[in-house]
Amino acid sequence: MYDAIVIDQGASGQQVERRQIGFGDLQPGDVTVDVTWSTLNYKDALAITGSAPVVRSFPLVPGIDFAGIVAESRHPDYTPGDRVILNGWGVGEKHNGGLAARAQVNGDWLVRLPTALTERQSMAIGTAGYTAMLCVMALEEQGFTPDRGEIVVTGATGGVGSVATALLAARGYRVAAVTGRAGEADYLKRLGAATIVDRAELQGKLRPLSKERWAGGVDVAGGAVLANLLSMITYRGVVAACGLAAGMDLPSSVAPFILRGVRLLGVDSVMCPKADREVAWRRLSQELDLELLETMITEIPMDQVIETAPDFLAGKVRGRIVVPIP
Ligand code: NDP
Repeated sequence: MYDAIVIDQGASGQQVERRQIGFGDLQPGDVTVDVTWSTLNYKDALAITGSAPVVRSFPLVPGIDFAGIVAESRHPDYTPGDRVILNGWGVGEKHNGGLAARAQVNGDWLVRLPTALTERQSMAIGTAGYTAMLCVMALEEQGFTPDRGEIVVTGATGGVGSVATALLAARGYRVAAVTGRAGEADYLKRLGAATIVDRAELQGKLRPLSKERWAGGVDVAGGAVLANLLSMITYRGVVAACGLAAGMDLPSSVAPFILRGVRLLGVDSVMCPKADREVAWRRLSQELDLELLETMITEIPMDQVIETAPDFLAGKVRGRIVVPIP
């Protein structure tokens, strides 16, 4: 038996509890991992609270991320004792996830933990931080460089936003951090933000084009926030969009694209090919200031996972939450 958070569906709706489950409940996979650290992401909060249809088979262990030690392997790339991380691939959605002491997965989904990172640090980065790096990579693949001008990051105090702010500032970009939490300005400045922007400035009346403000952006919000942001991007600017914290819709027009040549790049972490993941994790281990990462971390025990999940949806979580797995 091993310790897990389990989401199940009963007559009265979704139930979530921490309980022991049997090794027989491990799902198909050629690598078994002793999970040592996990984390909570926005998507885990949606799954645990049942506020969006993230979970696609019940019962299910949530947790789209884990770090741990290989216990058994039939995969040619891994042997017992290897330190590995997993992000996405439907784990924590349709395959048992990281909020458990054991996980069994397809070895092709794993990435080797970079030697410069501890398992705890890798989960402090987690899918949020790895997605932030995918956004940086997407912008740079378009030839975006710091000399193009200020870059805007939305949801800046959140997981993706905090890591994106730190990564971009470290690479020499001038970062404008958009936040709904004015009280976190000092935190954002410590991460490297040069300008703090009140989220309300991106929630006003939508116009096809507004005054040009930023050369590029990383957006976690979607909805009217992204639509407003696009209308404020300078000629031939580039925006990487990865989230829907403000909404799934995009009430924009084609004006920014056809009149200013703005490029909108979609970023997905779940099915991202392994080669890109390896680049992202190598770069994270080299470029992210681990002291700054520490300022983003809140550590909670397994016991507090279920009660903490709603905080994400209330916009109360700052930075990243890590969960040691006993
Ligand atoms: P967090 O909850 O940590 O951060 C989201 C932040 O967005 C909040 O902290 C808040 O920051 C801001 N925010 C909250 N509500 C709104 C709103 N109504 N309008 C604008 N901003 C808002 O989540 P993550 O950083 O982990 O994830 C952010 C988004 O990215 C989520 O939608 C998530 O699903 C998505 N995501 C997508 C991935 C992909 O593969 N495409 C991978 C990872 C995440 P502040 O208070 O500073 O404004």
